[in-house]
Amino acid sequence: MLRGMKRLNRYENRILRIAKLGGKLVRLKQFGFSSKTEEGFRFPIYVLEIGKPKAIKKNVAALIAGVHGLETIGIRVLLDFLDDLLSHKTSVLYKEIKNGELGVVCIPILNPGGVAMKRRSNPRGVDLMRNSGVEAVKAPFFFGGHKYSNFFPYFRGNVLQSESRVLDRFFYEYLLNAENEMIPVVDIHSGFGTIDHVWWPYASTHDPCADEPLFQKMANHFTNTLNHYLYRFGPQSETYTTHGDLWDRLYDLFLAKRKFNPNTRNSRFLPLTLEMGTWSDIKIDPWKIFRKRGIFNPARESKQKSIISHRKFLSDVMRLAKQKADDLV
Ligand SMILES: [Zn+2]
Repeated sequence: MLRGMKRLNRYENRILRIAKLGGKLVRLKQFGFSSKTEEGFRFPIYVLEIGKPKAIKKNVAALIAGVHGLETIGIRVLLDFLDDLLSHKTSVLYKEIKNGELGVVCIPILNPGGVAMKRRSNPRGVDLMRNSGVEAVKAPFFFGGHKYSNFFPYFRGNVLQSESRVLDRFFYEYLLNAENEMIPVVDIHSGFGTIDHVWWPYASTHDPCADEPLFQKMANHFTNTLNHYLYRFGPQSETYTTHGDLWDRLYDLFLAKRKFNPNTRNSRFLPLTLEMGTWSDIKIDPWKIFRKRGIFNPARESKQKSIISHRKFLSDVMRLAKQKADDLV
């Protein structure tokens, strides 16, 4: 049996419990499959729809986690957020969802094979965040993505992987034709650096994306008005550049397609990557650097605190789905 199978089962049971907890407000869908393991096994990939179907069409926000199989803390942050949302029915976000003002769609584990096999890549050895086919202007050697062999980490793969195609389908089904003015997405990762970064496109180039002014405005709003000053906001390329970022590709696809749809001509697609800094507590738990998932996840002592600390941030990002860009001050 695969070493991470128990963990994957635990997360999947939690997804089921969350679907039950939400009652009529939540729908669980099996949305696709992972790529095949060497034994020919594919793992199902699930989507949770939270809110009324009409709201999901009009004012949608999205949450993704588990793109990298070792970054399991991101999956727990996402599940904790949903658990908390659906068990405290007095929160503003819950009421908005209940009233049909907005909806949240989630892929809690995009790379279940990576979780089960305890590795960053998918079952084919492809790093999904290097897989989109986008060529960076200039990326760091190796870490920025390479095509040598799936024997090494950061392998880009030669074709778009099943998991990447599931994200594509999710984008086409829920995000591309959404009618909200701002369509916020958070993709939760972990492991880089000592503080929590929030990145927007691009990863492939230092050129600013078309929505750079709006992203900057949003960052100011989050830092100064909403007090999320512990997060460091910026385009991803400010930290490092890579080939093949999936959000780079979907962001450009959105720009290219939306002009043909009169309902969404004024919509802005705002994919954010939350990269939780998990190196900061190496001092609390120095042994973590010797554990396989160590540097990708917080030390045991600070884990629960760290998970809970993102609830307010995620809720504030999801609420952008029903706001206007002019509301951000
Ligand atoms: Zn990651």
